[in-house]
Amino acid sequence: MGISTSLALDSKGRPVVSYYESQQQDLKLLHCGTPDCNDGTPVRAATVTTSVHLPDHTPAPCIVSGCRAQGAPVGAVVHDQATVTSNDAAKTPTGSARFAYYAGNLGCSGAPASIEVVVLSGAGNVTTAESSSTAPLTAGDYSYRTQYLPDAAAKALGFVTTPGPCEGLKVQ
Ligand SMILES: [Zn+2]
Repeated sequence: MGISTSLALDSKGRPVVSYYESQQQDLKLLHCGTPDCNDGTPVRAATVTTSVHLPDHTPAPCIVSGCRAQGAPVGAVVHDQATVTSNDAAKTPTGSARFAYYAGNLGCSGAPASIEVVVLSGAGNVTTAESSSTAPLTAGDYSYRTQYLPDAAAKALGFVTTPGPCEGLKVQ
């Protein structure tokens, strides 16, 4: 496990553990099947990764180590892509991605300038969704934070609402 772990209990007293994996700086979530996490029930964890895309769907270039921020020129039009990956190849993380878009900072702080929920599509253990495109951007700092919202079928498989990382975008 990585750093910054936190532990909570769900409505049935089963542990939910979230932690950052230090190498990839992704927030991970474990959801146990029983209070002692030890009944042999497979743990269903989803990982959310994101990337700010240019109109041709290539990622905007990384400008901060570890790609905590991407860069784009003034006037760029971008959208965000979310990828949700299950830790079980046979269980598809269906549902929606919630894109919160922030203007004025790289850190996803304050109230989002917009929020958009997009249905995920995919198969196997990977689903993806993309936000709609921005207007041409003026110079400044922007950011996206994405969240995985499981649908009823995914909840029945054990998936829970899972946050993704904050990703910054510097337009200059
Ligand atoms: Zn794209």
